[in-house]
Formats: sequence, structure tokens, C-alpha cells
Amino acid sequence: RKKDGDDEVTALQEQYEQIDISTVKSFAHLPISKLTLRGLKESKYTVPTDIQRNTIKLALNGKDILGASQTGSGKTLAFLVPLLEILYCNKWSRFEGVGAIIITPTRELAYQIFETLRNIGQYHDFSAGLIIGGQNLRFERGRMDQVNIIVCTPGRLLQHMDENPLFDCTQMKVLVLDEADKCLDMGFADTMNAIVANLPEDRQTMLFSATQTKDVKHLARLSLKDPSYVSVHEHV
Ligand code: ADP
Ligand code: MG
Repeated sequence: RKKDGDDEVTALQEQYEQIDISTVKSFAHLPISKLTLRGLKESKYTVPTDIQRNTIKLALNGKDILGASQTGSGKTLAFLVPLLEILYCNKWSRFEGVGAIIITPTRELAYQIFETLRNIGQYHDFSAGLIIGGQNLRFERGRMDQVNIIVCTPGRLLQHMDENPLFDCTQMKVLVLDEADKCLDMGFADTMNAIVANLPEDRQTMLFSATQTKDVKHLARLSLKDPSYVSVHEHV
């Protein structure tokens, strides 16, 4: 039996390969779901930035991404839009557990990403959780099995992976490593490697940084499969 939304998903996916970013003047010109478009519009996002155009096209086509662009260029939507689309097209529902994990170095950044996700994802039926420590671990634990999209800092995520029997990410589809250079600068290299080693291989990964250091390339080698490079310099 066909489910609601099957036709929309098929119609969207048929357009992915033909996306011509030179003609994309607004998010509405991209083959993204009505629910995401409505969330973007409601949040007053109309024109995608360069990193967003480039990354969204490649990520919708299933590519792993190694993205570098300066602070303020719009990396958050560059990964949140395809992340929502991938879960939506996989018919992810509340009951299917963790579908995506976003790792960022600080609580403050995690909080900002979480807020943007709540805004642009408000019409989807996914649950999102902010896992950043500073909260009661037991409280976070009990909720982990109901969360579809996790926004977290590296140490706290690894703690759940190691200690929380309810934590199950075996089905997850999308991993985002945001500000990977800063994660490494802050001494999270071992933690990041341990996290990546705990994740299923059959997933899509997007790694972003403001710089392309040797350490980032090393982390990229461990986490990405045949990545597409997106490097954008623009004035914002
Ligand atoms: P980065 O992660 O690259 O530093 P952010 O994703 O935090 O950049 O975005 C920087 C700022 O630009 C934020 O205030 C965000 O709301 C705004 N922004 C991002 N994308 C767009 C867009 N397409 N249209 C308008 N504002 C945007
Ligand atoms: Mg950012």
C-alpha cells in the first residue's frame, strides 16, 4: 500500500541530479519538501547562501561533504536542510529512534543549532534533543530512546554511548561534525574518533570547519567516504 507522501518523495528525488545551483535564487527553487520550505519561510530564510546551495545539492545526491567556509557564511542551514530531507525521504518517524547526530564543540553552539532546527523543522514530526551536559544525566538518559535528532557536544555524547543502555544509534542515517577544527583545537580528537568508531558505517557524513588543517584532514579520512569538497569564501 502506498503511504501518504510517497508521491512527493519520489517527485523530489527525481529532481536531485538536475539541480543547477546557478539558477537557484531561493530555497523554493530547490527540490525540498513542503514542510521544510514552510519552516524556512516562517523563519524568514529565503535566499540560500553559497555554502548552502552547494552543500544542499551534493548532500541530497547522497554525497559525504567536507565543507570549509568562514564563520557567518551559513553552515547551519547547509547541513540542517539536507538532514531534514534525508530523514523525511526515509519516512523517519518519532518511533524509529536516532536518525541523525550533530556534534559541535560547545554548549552555546549546540544550543544555537538546536534553536535553528526547532524553527526550520517545526512542521516535521521529528523529535530533537539537546545533549550537552550540565543537565542531570538520568533525565537526559530516559529521553534518549525517543529522540530522532541529537544535537550534542562530543564528551557528553560519548558518555551516553559508553554508559547508557538505552542509547541506540545503529539505524542512524546522518552524522554532522560541525566546527571540526575547533573540536580538535579543544582537545576532542580521541573523543571524536571514539564516537565515529561507534557509529554504523552505512550513513552519510557532513564535516564542516572554518580552516583546513592537517588534523581536520585526518579526522575527515576516518569519518568520510569519497567526500565532495565544498570550499566557499564570500562576504556576508
Ligand atoms: P556559520 O555556521 O557558517 O558561522 P550560521 O549558520 O551560524 O553560520 O549563520 C550565520 C548567520 O546568518 C545566522 O544569524 C543565520 O541566521 C544567518 N543566515 C544563515 N543562512 C541565511 C540565509 N539563507 N538567509 C538569511 N540569513 C541567513
Ligand atoms: Mg556554525
